[in-house]
Amino acid sequence: MADNGTVPQGFWTETAQLVRAVSRAMGVTFRNLFRKPVTVHYPTTERKYPERYRGLLALVYEPDTGEEACIGCRLCEFVCPPAVIKVEMLKTPERNYAKTFTLELYACEFCELCVQVCPTDAIVMMKSFDMPTADRRDMLLDKDRLHTIGLKYERTWATGNKLRDMQAPPKGAPRPGHAAAPAAAAAPAPAAEPKGVEA
Ligand code: SF4
Ligand code: SF4
Repeated sequence: MADNGTVPQGFWTETAQLVRAVSRAMGVTFRNLFRKPVTVHYPTTERKYPERYRGLLALVYEPDTGEEACIGCRLCEFVCPPAVIKVEMLKTPERNYAKTFTLELYACEFCELCVQVCPTDAIVMMKSFDMPTADRRDMLLDKDRLHTIGLKYERTWATGNKLRDMQAPPKGAPRPGHAAAPAAAAAPAPAAEPKGVEA
């Protein structure tokens, strides 16, 4: 209200805008008061992981023999971008094993490259991320803990062999930069008969 008792210009317009804005905000609040909560009380309540979820890394045993699937070849160690895998190979006359295998999960990028290169499908990702901890040392996984995780949780569908099959070009497709050669050009030309030689 101005000193002379008159209402300033635009007062009623601004008041109406304010009332509309407050009503809209209170409407949102009221609507949400009666909505079902979307949060769950983890870890007492667990959500189902999506079908293609890929989380914790683990080592697995061969399904038919029960032996460790890892042959200690160190391919996963060489391919890992942040270099969080360390493997020592143990050679035996029958086959090779991983003598030691450590994975620093706290520094893992979850890029899945280790899974993609594994020739024996020994390292896989689990359909879970249930490893809450306040101590980084709990996430330094040795061979035994990696195998325990492999037994405890459900595996994802993705194994090294399946991923490589999926990414390979279709059979018979020309390689990039190499146009398919015509059939006549591909067939070797018959050797010329030396002059003066009769069949
Ligand atoms: S997921 Fe990637 S970063 Fe993690 S251990 Fe495997 S290769 Fe290394
Ligand atoms: S997990 Fe696979 S890639 Fe890594 S050392 Fe074992 S066999 Fe080799």
